[in-house]
Amino acid sequence: MANLSTLQKEVLAYDQKYGWVEDKESHIALHMSEELGEISRCILRLEGYKKESYDKKALAEELIDLLYLTIKLGNTAGIDLEKEWYAAFERYEKKTSRKELK
Ligand SMILES: [Mg+2]
Repeated sequence: MANLSTLQKEVLAYDQKYGWVEDKESHIALHMSEELGEISRCILRLEGYKKESYDKKALAEELIDLLYLTIKLGNTAGIDLEKEWYAAFERYEKKTSRKELK
């Protein structure tokens, strides 16, 4: 399983290969919104709110589309996502630790 640092390098290599490293942060964020909409549509199908049949594979693909863009935005903004991931979980743990564990 690749770690986030490896995924950031893979995304950078992919974007360099196709000349997509010039994408602006605002455009990447807009594409992220688009992907979130696609994820939402899958969830509405899963819960039966939308009549079209739910497709787990489609949801998986949309989640990866959003993950790719998240990593891409991290690269563009110069953020070490792996470092920030663990820092975030330390913050979450402090919040959670205020509540009693069951
Ligand atoms: Mg998509």
